[in-house]
Amino acid sequence: MGAADVKKVAVIGGGTMGNGIAQVFATNGFDVELIDVKDEFVARALGTIGKNLERVAKKQEWPADKVPGILARIHGGTSMDAVKDCGLVVEAATENAELKKKIFAEMDAKAPAGAILATNTSSISITEIAAVTKRPADVIGMHFMNPVPVMQLVEIIRGIATSDATYAATEALSKQVGKTPVEVNDYPGFVANRILMPMINEAAYTLMEGVATRESIDTVMKLGMNHPMGPLALADLIGLDTCLSIMEVLHDGLGDSKYRPCPLLRKMVAAGWLGRKSGRGFYEYPAA
Ligand code: NAD
Repeated sequence: MGAADVKKVAVIGGGTMGNGIAQVFATNGFDVELIDVKDEFVARALGTIGKNLERVAKKQEWPADKVPGILARIHGGTSMDAVKDCGLVVEAATENAELKKKIFAEMDAKAPAGAILATNTSSISITEIAAVTKRPADVIGMHFMNPVPVMQLVEIIRGIATSDATYAATEALSKQVGKTPVEVNDYPGFVANRILMPMINEAAYTLMEGVATRESIDTVMKLGMNHPMGPLALADLIGLDTCLSIMEVLHDGLGDSKYRPCPLLRKMVAAGWLGRKSGRGFYEYPAA
């Protein structure tokens, strides 16, 4: 299916990433089916999108009817049957290979012929996900960054069987929603996490070995490398469990000991110190 044929987009999973992806497509004129497993999750996602759009509307001084117009294009539900007339399906469910394979098998059965079947996975092999479908040429990685409405990049990942037509349509659709696509091949961590996560992991080693305090490590990277935030603060934002699981994917998939997760990172995850979301990570977040 070419990009011009895509009028309606399904987003599977309405969490942090899914609601942002739905918002971005609806804002750019697409009809959106937002699918999650429970009505309450769908309602929460729609509520979040409404709030986020109101914030943008205020900042950018949108006319009063613009937000209701965008929201009217988003339909929420719990049935995968809603993918039946969607030209693009973006899966943004929980990062779990078995779950994603189950979703793709169902998507394969229910999405129209020629639809682009995309996953927003941060680390799971596109080739492996595509292999559970009968149309691996139509499967692709569409890796949006967090927060989706704000971040420019979409890392587009070709599985081994992804067709040029699927790539071209995904690239065009990314541009249509105002993003900058970058083409990447399917290797563990793709590009973004292959480079970012070892840096965060090394920052954890640097802290563990007592080379410097958490504040000093982050200050070196902010002021010395011009990073907007330090790697330890960024790890807290991403979630230390997510960082650990991506390091494990790199370590298992590439087999090089340079990707071994830092023992301090493991210990903190075991303690439930997951970063901002749990109130404590490399820093403390008393209000969380
Ligand atoms: P999240 O936990 O916030 O949301 C996941 C959502 O998926 C939940 O609402 C959950 O109920 C739903 N879900 C689970 N099983 C489902 C099913 N069978 N059908 C429909 N919905 C289902 O997770 P997230 O942070 O939004 O991550 C989603 C995906 O995006 C993951 O693959 C993750 O690796 C990737 N990703 C995350 C980030 C990030 O910074 N959070 C960045 C880039 C990519």
